[in-house]
Amino acid sequence: MTPCRAGEAAMISHADVEKLRGRRAPEPAVLSLYLPVPLDPAGVRGLAARAEDLMAGAGAGGPDGASIAGAGSADRDAVLGALAAHGRDWPGRTAAFFACQQLGLFEALPLPCVLPGRAVLATRPHVRPLLAAIQRCPDYLVAIISRRHARVLSVSGNRVETVASQSGEGPRSHGFGGWYGLETRRIQQRIIQLGRHYREVAAILARAAGVGRPVPLVIAGHHDSIAGLLQELPPAAREAFAGSFTADPHGLTPARVRELAGPVIEGWVARREQELAGKVLGGLAAVGLHASLAAVNQGVAGHLLVAHEGMIPGFACGRCGALSTGSFECPDCGTAARTAPDLLEEMVQRTLDGNGPVTMIRDAPFSVAARLRFPVTGRKNVTRGADDEGCSDPAGAGQNPWQGSAWVRGAS
Ligand SMILES: [Zn+2]
Repeated sequence: MTPCRAGEAAMISHADVEKLRGRRAPEPAVLSLYLPVPLDPAGVRGLAARAEDLMAGAGAGGPDGASIAGAGSADRDAVLGALAAHGRDWPGRTAAFFACQQLGLFEALPLPCVLPGRAVLATRPHVRPLLAAIQRCPDYLVAIISRRHARVLSVSGNRVETVASQSGEGPRSHGFGGWYGLETRRIQQRIIQLGRHYREVAAILARAAGVGRPVPLVIAGHHDSIAGLLQELPPAAREAFAGSFTADPHGLTPARVRELAGPVIEGWVARREQELAGKVLGGLAAVGLHASLAAVNQGVAGHLLVAHEGMIPGFACGRCGALSTGSFECPDCGTAARTAPDLLEEMVQRTLDGNGPVTMIRDAPFSVAARLRFPVTGRKNVTRGADDEGCSDPAGAGQNPWQGSAWVRGAS
């Protein structure tokens, strides 16, 4: 990862997130700042002040009023320096900064999504918004298809590149007309050529779908060409199909492609979020903060769904790391808990540490939920709370957060 990705908001990959996750400080000294950059150049002038406000608030107080040291001045200066140098190159994006002088860490990444402003001081980079950006603004392919030509564009952040183009021979446009036999042959040839043209483009898309992580595919063009290409798509490429938009293929500039494909991708992302949520909740699941904390503490959380955008401060045992909403002494270690700026981030980190997938979802009736990797025998119903903070744990996790973990342990 380059220290500062100025200019273009290229896509951040999961590998980048993993690199960041590998950085840890013994103290909460890693500053993470997410700063939305206004589209309006006039608004950019107030950015430094906004960044300073957010950074001043980071780690100012623990959930029970315990004070934590603020971000180091060297890290604050590094952020402000990068902002002064590149801030105006990032209109309409969110700039993410990760800084820790102690670790020699400084990253400035312009993200392709607009995310709320946030500054966090923790022992690790705060990656939850980064994961949301990867998920909500994925790289994608756009196939622009006409009866004779095709272009395949790769869109990554605000970068649009042509990755393949295809020119079908196409029939001669002037016909002999008049002579019936020749005309019929011409039409037949045209159908054969058209079919071959669509199959060739479909093959290009199938190869693209088969390389690395499959990316969503948008098809653009006139109705008949979209339908013709769709018909020829092999299963892998068909699975990647996110949607289409009709447009005159010849007038499509890269900027216009992004503008028209954007809502198609947004719709696809939203549908996938709901599908994944349905899958997770359709099986054995912990729903709500307390049930999910218990599942994570017990290491039985598989797929984690995070719906709450804001942070939920809490505590983590200084020895075993058990998470809780209250500063109780850990029953396993007898150790007092240290403050954790965001329990949801802690849960995300634990889930990723265990190679479990994490999905950020919107419009969910809970703040967080987890698919359980192991069945909780006999007490299945306790994991199914419909309402979030109304924890379904019969042990009454609302009174003592540590009790929330007891039922999962006892049952698994
Ligand atoms: Zn403990």
